[in-house]
Amino acid sequence: MIDILDQDIQYMPGIGPRKKVLLSSELGIATLRDLLEYYPYKYVDRSRIYSVKEIRSDMPFVQISGQILSFEEFEMGPRRKRLVAHFSDGTGIADLVWFTGVQYIRKTFKVGQKYIVFGKPTIFGNRYQLAHPEIEQASELQLSQMGMQPYYGTTEKMKKAGMTSRAVEKIMKGMLERITVPLDETLPPFITGRLKLVSRDRALRDIHYPKTSEDMSKAKLRLKFEELFYIQLNILRYASDQRRKYRGYIFKKVGTFFNGFYHDHLPFPLTGAQKRVIKEIRRDVCSGSQMNRLLQGDVGSGKTLVALMSMLIALDNGFQACIMAPTEILAEQHLATIRGFLGNMDIRTELLTGIVKGKKRKAVLDGLLDGSVQILVGTHAVIEETVQFANLGLVIVDEQHRFGVAQRAKLWNKSSNPPHVLVMTATPIPRTLAMTIYGDLDVSVIDELPPGRKPVMTIHKLNNQMTSLYNGIRQQIRDGRQVYMVFPLIQESEKSDLQDLENGYETLCEVFPEFKIGKVHGKMKPAEKEAEMQKFVNRETQILVATTVIEVGVNVPNASVMVILNAERFGLSQLHQLRGRVGRGANQSYCILVSKPQLSKDTRRRIDIMCDTNDGFRIAEADLKLRGPGDLEGTQQSGMAFDLKIADIARDGQLVQLAREEAQKIVDDDPTCRKPEYALLWKRLSELRKTNINWAAIS
Ligand code: ADP
Ligand code: MG
Repeated sequence: MIDILDQDIQYMPGIGPRKKVLLSSELGIATLRDLLEYYPYKYVDRSRIYSVKEIRSDMPFVQISGQILSFEEFEMGPRRKRLVAHFSDGTGIADLVWFTGVQYIRKTFKVGQKYIVFGKPTIFGNRYQLAHPEIEQASELQLSQMGMQPYYGTTEKMKKAGMTSRAVEKIMKGMLERITVPLDETLPPFITGRLKLVSRDRALRDIHYPKTSEDMSKAKLRLKFEELFYIQLNILRYASDQRRKYRGYIFKKVGTFFNGFYHDHLPFPLTGAQKRVIKEIRRDVCSGSQMNRLLQGDVGSGKTLVALMSMLIALDNGFQACIMAPTEILAEQHLATIRGFLGNMDIRTELLTGIVKGKKRKAVLDGLLDGSVQILVGTHAVIEETVQFANLGLVIVDEQHRFGVAQRAKLWNKSSNPPHVLVMTATPIPRTLAMTIYGDLDVSVIDELPPGRKPVMTIHKLNNQMTSLYNGIRQQIRDGRQVYMVFPLIQESEKSDLQDLENGYETLCEVFPEFKIGKVHGKMKPAEKEAEMQKFVNRETQILVATTVIEVGVNVPNASVMVILNAERFGLSQLHQLRGRVGRGANQSYCILVSKPQLSKDTRRRIDIMCDTNDGFRIAEADLKLRGPGDLEGTQQSGMAFDLKIADIARDGQLVQLAREEAQKIVDDDPTCRKPEYALLWKRLSELRKTNINWAAIS
């Protein structure tokens, strides 16, 4: 049977070819289902009609019903008119006012007819007036149907073509009237019953036409729950499937590599958190199932060492290990760090990135295949088909939000069993988001920084206070420290008044003739960048002028000042990452956020949060609230953010939790979801997999 919802929208009354094209190109709506799932973003209560007498100027909106007594036009300069309609419902007179479209209004609306008028009341002289109100004929039918009015998002292009929210509303109404059969239920009665959720049919009709705000809330709750529930069910079912299907390698012993390193090479005692996480990892790799663990730890919390020690366990059990970084610079840095840590231990560690070519590359590939390369450090180049291992046992993915289930799955054909996977991230992902994106991963947290670190002091300065800032910098450098200065742009741009690196560099050279200044940015060749970074590491330069290329991973413990210019232009997580470049040594460090004086409310809030806390988790939560999850770094490009239609991970945290618990109960009872009582769930899961790209990646 063909589902009516699969029908093309063009067969709906009121949708001609032109509207069809607009709906599909602007909003991606092609079928009735797409349209039905295009939910309003807000509602205005129009269930009540007020009398003119009741109007108060603090009402955001008011709706009145009555007739136009007379029109009056006022000249307002050349070719500009103001049109006033005196409007009455018998309890008083209000004025309706228009400054544009005067002719159209005069032609359309008649004295003596009954209208419903809706708008924002303001007081003008001794009367209330409604400027550019919504006005419609008031038939009896209309009056009896007034409820919450939905508002739909439309684009500029749509508005120009007359497809306003009101027009979408009409199309929606037409469609819902045409669908006379009840819409299919997608949640089993044992869930809707227990959680007291309204039916899907009720919810989908009410979400577009709620009579009351209570109906609207019930509809929203039902649809949000459903959306989150199926994401959770899909992830949990998938994870449990994988666990049953694949045996994980068992790393039984801790041998000479791990112990040798621990006793003879560890340069400092591990923090409590590092020890705990290593234990958690050891438990996983001994369990017989594949490890899928997410390691969250703020910048500088020492994740690299945890990674290395985990790899040594793999080596002790005769396996190879690999660690992947998001960029070539970082991969190279990891290689250097790891080789540094290992010192003279006899472990073959190699690099594989896009720039490792020719003979060198072949040697590495051969070494991987014959097992002589024990630790591989690389970029995503590692997951390419051509890279084959003798026995890959553990994969570590660093600084990653771009490594979803699909990418992890790719690793599995690199060895007979899937290797253990540890994903490390410095951008703390709030719990509810982690549950949604990394729902199949276990989570470990390093919630402690190595000892002796002083929290970075963050200070907000305005861009007219540069002199005092320069004095501070001079003092720090005289004390032997180094300074980063980050610019939002490389070169001057006509289009913006942002500070740019090239000009900034010139200025700094004039201000600080006594110091050496280096610069790095994304347009430089990797080798040049590397050389500049190296100079800074060796303290040949005291100030490093940079763009955000230094954001991730760079480690110069002697640098104590991070100046961020046009800080208003950076997102919270980016600011936090940049700040993480300092505070890595024993000295007090500073992060100076320089902004223009007038700031928007959101920007103000971002800067306040930065000055307030160093806690990455609090920052991530705030970021999620301010920006919404779609924007969250990495999640978008990766196609990993589920395209949520109605739920909001930032605001609906409790519902995410509830959906997870409900899904968990089902998977605990029947991991395959094939029991007859779950038939409906199984059917829905299969449907969703067909229509949702992100879901397809998982299955
Ligand atoms: P992350 O990758 O988590 O941002 P790193 O692994 O780069 O952090 O570690 C930051 C710095 O802290 C490095 O210089 C590292 O050598 C150092 N470090 C790591 N663990 C400890 C520890 N237990 N005690 C002291 N310093 C540590
Ligand atoms: Mg790191």
